[in-house]
Amino acid sequence: MVKRNENIAKLQAGYLFPEIGRRKKALLEKEPDAKLISLGIGNTTEPLSTHIVEGLNKEVTKLGTPEGYTGYDDDAQAQAFLDKLKSRISKNWYNDIISPDEIIVSDGSKPDCGRLFFLFGSDVSIAVQDPAYPVYVDGSVMIGATGKYNSDTEEFNDIEYMRCTSENDFFPDLSKAKRTDLIYICSPNNPTGAVATKEQLKELVNFAKKNSSIIIFDAAYSEFIKEKGLPRSIFEIEGARECAIEVSSLSKPAGFTGVRLGWTIVPKELKFDDGESVGKDWQRVMGTLFNGSSNIAQWGAIAALSETGLSEIKEKVNYYMENAKIIKDGLEGLGIKTFGGVNSPYIWAAFPGKKSWDVFEEILTKAHVVTTPGAGFGKAGEGFVRFSAFGKTSDIKEAVKRLQENL
Ligand code: PLP
Repeated sequence: MVKRNENIAKLQAGYLFPEIGRRKKALLEKEPDAKLISLGIGNTTEPLSTHIVEGLNKEVTKLGTPEGYTGYDDDAQAQAFLDKLKSRISKNWYNDIISPDEIIVSDGSKPDCGRLFFLFGSDVSIAVQDPAYPVYVDGSVMIGATGKYNSDTEEFNDIEYMRCTSENDFFPDLSKAKRTDLIYICSPNNPTGAVATKEQLKELVNFAKKNSSIIIFDAAYSEFIKEKGLPRSIFEIEGARECAIEVSSLSKPAGFTGVRLGWTIVPKELKFDDGESVGKDWQRVMGTLFNGSSNIAQWGAIAALSETGLSEIKEKVNYYMENAKIIKDGLEGLGIKTFGGVNSPYIWAAFPGKKSWDVFEEILTKAHVVTTPGAGFGKAGEGFVRFSAFGKTSDIKEAVKRLQENL
């Protein structure tokens, strides 16, 4: 028999969403006629927009022709598509603050987070926001970078958990944070819905530079920022090019959760302590573990990042943000304090003094609405429940009505 990987054995309590699935199933076994509405998982519901589908169709048909066929991206035609995509990401997404050769296209930001663990290995120390999107902690556990699990504190010994609460506007108090090699920051944040301001990110960049740390900035929800003046990318901040990597994706704004297209940006200035280029090693990791994003997804992305595609993305984002407003207003109308939901598709609802799994269960059983318990994202998520705005507006309205009638 083969010995189990002890790092995988350290993972705590399965994954949050399977547990939610188990509880949903249990409810449906008790009440088979219950019509559950999910405001839990952040999965997109709206179909791909017209221009993107046209872009896909046109190129996919060519795959069936001798002239239009492409395989791995080392042939000239495939390279030309990839170059076109990178140049659109650089120009139309980043307003040229990033150069195309600093963009490595992938199949999404979560897989890139996974591969980043190979880039840094198990010898790095990490800091995460608490609460946080689970991949940063679970991936670090899997690679063996987190030390032992402490069952008293219910945390890993070698992770620096940076509490994000309403007292610090859900952004870490860096004056209290320990120095680590890597600092994971997500803005707009999943789950709290908070968006870091320019001042907060300046402080973060200064902190990282002072400590020779690298920030891993997850910008998967940047397109949901509506208010002017809020940074959509860490690279809008002076000095970030020497201390940050950014992961991003078309999953949420363009509905590419199934199509799969994302990217990671590693600026040329980013170096390891021996002076070697981080970007060069990232290329090596990607070349070894990944064989390029699907050519089909790339064609969809080229269409999505055209002028028409981008205006369709705006419409889609507006649709979800209308949902966010309905949820936020509905909860506030019930006297529930909420955060987020203005520049992010997540509403972070406070239930002080209550356990978040109890609130989840109460909402599930009374209103047949599925949410995500805050504690699943970390200790500081206790007492909160996350509502996701990804859904059909008719379902969102019905869910809010049920909350109003049953809570
Ligand atoms: N980053 C954050 C913060 C997310 O919430 C998600 C998905 O929910 C992802 C990354 C994953 O995105 P992708 O579909 O690009 O892998």
